[in-house]
Amino acid sequence: MRAIDIIAKKRDGRVLSAEEIEFLIQGFNEGSIPDYQVAAWLMAVLLRGMERQETIDLTMAIVRSGRQLDLHDVDPFVVDKHSTGGVGDKTTVTVGPLVAAAGLKVGKISGRGLDFTGGTLDKLEAIPGFRVDLSMDEFRAQLREIGLVVVGQSPELAPADGKLYALRDATATVNSIPLIASSIMSKKIASGANGIVLDVKVGQGAFMETREDALELARLMVDIGQRLGRKVRAMIADMSQPLGRAVGNALELQEAIDTLRGHGPEDFYRHCLALATEMVLLTRQSEDKSAVTAHLEQLIASGQALEKFRQWVTAQGGDPAVADDPSRLPAARLVREVKAPYGGYVAALDPQEIGLSSMLLGGGRSKKGDWIDHAVGIVLHAKIGDRVEPGQTLMTIHANDDGKLAGAQQRLLAAYELSEEPVSPPPLIHEVLAG
Ligand code: URA
Repeated sequence: MRAIDIIAKKRDGRVLSAEEIEFLIQGFNEGSIPDYQVAAWLMAVLLRGMERQETIDLTMAIVRSGRQLDLHDVDPFVVDKHSTGGVGDKTTVTVGPLVAAAGLKVGKISGRGLDFTGGTLDKLEAIPGFRVDLSMDEFRAQLREIGLVVVGQSPELAPADGKLYALRDATATVNSIPLIASSIMSKKIASGANGIVLDVKVGQGAFMETREDALELARLMVDIGQRLGRKVRAMIADMSQPLGRAVGNALELQEAIDTLRGHGPEDFYRHCLALATEMVLLTRQSEDKSAVTAHLEQLIASGQALEKFRQWVTAQGGDPAVADDPSRLPAARLVREVKAPYGGYVAALDPQEIGLSSMLLGGGRSKKGDWIDHAVGIVLHAKIGDRVEPGQTLMTIHANDDGKLAGAQQRLLAAYELSEEPVSPPPLIHEVLAG
């Protein structure tokens, strides 16, 4: 078999066999097939697409590039969630302890932020001492003991995905639905999840900008998971504006903690409850949906979810007092309110511009490995549909550099669009697909 023939076959729009896909991925992973050939193949896939079976074969080839965790000795049913990313998305920090307090076992491999989107690991590392580099033995022990563990991607699990992703990032081939689906699902399968809830974001602040694309990606991932023997549900959630009010690592962490206390922003609270409900239903299918949601609300109201958060932070070496004392989190030196220049209804709130502003303040990275400032970010005081009066505070910027603060202020004002006519807020959840 030769890589060049596989590239030509995909270039001509033909369907690849499982053996051809396996040959290419394993060769790339071992270093016997060079980057330039794989880059050409990725572009052919982006332009020509892949059939369902090819995407499943690609997913499994990526899984076979490394170890596959078997967590049955820890728990017969381990659940995971995956958000396809967006701005202000701190869902794992709230949903993880919430469902673990409900008795679920959540073992999760999370990522870092890149470009205008944030990453869960960066938010967690805003907690002094928090470790995300646990060994596989520590991962298992913590999952068994407290029911929740979140770590960074290990080179042992789906290593070909990390290499493929870096190549896609450099060759404008990230935005291919089969490539995204196989990338996400390979990591979930390799990390031993039995049940997976996918939180597919749609809108300007997400990979998928249209509902059709988000639905296609969600259906494909549900199908891959089911054909590989996993239980999968998918939620199509709105990302036409940031989720919640805080954007920036420590600020988002604080908002996730506030939500565990029952004082978070309404949209984020509802989003977390909807996702947590799907995770519980996936594990215990016989239960009634509204009873599950009511139970989760009760776990928040009683403080049990927050207590699980404290246990989780302690287990990963972090300072559990952050749950009760926000002053223990990194704080920015400069805090500036930005006022509405005139009155109106918020008609648009560009999530990409807001994510980018947070990144330029120092809260995100433009390339892998960049240092980030956990303290900086933005808190939004008005969201789509809200009425604002002239001079009312639209947002608060948290910065550590005067020049960056001034730049962010300009950008952020342009991210808001005010209309004279009332505007309806977008729906939080567009659709749920049960596998
Ligand atoms: N997240 C992933 O893990 N992979 C992709 O390709 C896109 C988003």
